[in-house]
Amino acid sequence: MNNFEFKNPTKIIFGKDTIEKLESEIPKEAKVLLLYGGGSIKKNGIYDQVKTALSNVDVVEFGGIPANPEYATLMDALQIIKEENITYLLAVGGGSVIDGTKFLSAAAVYTGDTPWDILTQNIRTEKGMPFGTVLTLPATGSEMNSGAVITRAETKEKLAMGGPGLFPQFSILDPQVITSIPRRQLANGLTDAFTHVLEQYMTYPIGASLQDHFAESILQTLIEVAPKVLKDPTDYQAASNFMWSCTMALNGLIQKGVPTDWAVHAIGHELTALFGIDHARTLAVIAPSHYKYNFEAKKDKLAQYAERVWNITEGSTDDKAYAAIERTVVFFHELGIDTKLSDYTEDYEGTAEKISKRFTDRGWLGLGEHQDLSPDKVEKIVKMAY
Ligand code: NAP
Ligand code: FE
Repeated sequence: MNNFEFKNPTKIIFGKDTIEKLESEIPKEAKVLLLYGGGSIKKNGIYDQVKTALSNVDVVEFGGIPANPEYATLMDALQIIKEENITYLLAVGGGSVIDGTKFLSAAAVYTGDTPWDILTQNIRTEKGMPFGTVLTLPATGSEMNSGAVITRAETKEKLAMGGPGLFPQFSILDPQVITSIPRRQLANGLTDAFTHVLEQYMTYPIGASLQDHFAESILQTLIEVAPKVLKDPTDYQAASNFMWSCTMALNGLIQKGVPTDWAVHAIGHELTALFGIDHARTLAVIAPSHYKYNFEAKKDKLAQYAERVWNITEGSTDDKAYAAIERTVVFFHELGIDTKLSDYTEDYEGTAEKISKRFTDRGWLGLGEHQDLSPDKVEKIVKMAY
């Protein structure tokens, strides 16, 4: 196992009717900016629950943060933070609203030229404006980590940011929120969380048994609950296991002491930036070809995954490893998620070259756990995913 340090300061408040506890988590003197997305919370009653819980708090609102949180929209919110002397941010939404709030937490205290630098220059935020979240969509783990991904439509870019100052102070996780989530977004959430685990697990084995078993148990739980959640989002047991699995998939725990990959996300972000494909779906497009292309480096772990997660026990290491990739594709299909770029756009020719050039221009010359995935290899992986 590799050396590591681990600190996750986010307080999780999990369970039925926990939104009622909101007020006690927010400092009494705070002036709060309540941030939300395109309006789903106004239809499903979450907005009313939040407003009731905050009846004694000084609150200003900002709605309209789109999926794949957009820089220009967030800059409007930043203006309000400054004009209204906001001291505390509250995200009520999925990964997009939470990530947008993290950007604002960082931008509110940033003293450089333009907040876009935070993304292009990889500026880590040591201390941002404090914020909490009410999660409405299990998927990203953003409710308990310190990362965010921000999109800029003007330049068709989607870039990541983070830093130890960007953990939410608290996150309220009431699994009942999933009853209003459309099937497409439930499938996205399952796929995103599943791929988060794979990014931290499908590397070369280094004998970190506990991390491997943690990762495998999250994958097994997601596989177990997926059909139940899709069939009946009011199944509270399934909803709560789904929600907690998504949080545990990316709250820092399973990545400690092990190599991590993250190439699938890096490449996937480009597909969202270029074509607007849902984040999770880009991962389902890239992951299978990434694992096939890097088969030799990953086959031992793929075979372990085959045996322990999918119960594939017949054949050689190569046979099991290959069967595991195929089974993963079937799993995505069972969720209703297509796994080829051509399923999403007819305009895919040239995409591989475009992404490879972008990575070269940014100096992203070696992705993956061995930092050896050069732009020309990325190009081959994307072509395999057409
Ligand atoms: P999302 O973009 O936050 O939300 C997707 C859609 O679901 C929105 O249209 C939203 O509608 C709707 N929705 C949310 N909650 C709902 C509910 N309870 N009922 C009905 N509809 C609901 O989806 P996401 O998958 O959570 O987030 C994706 C973003 O997170 C991407 O930008 C991705 O890159 C990023 N991400 C971040 C991390 C991280 O660690 N920070 C990790 C992976 C991905 P409204 O807008 O109307 O609310
Ligand atoms: Fe993700």
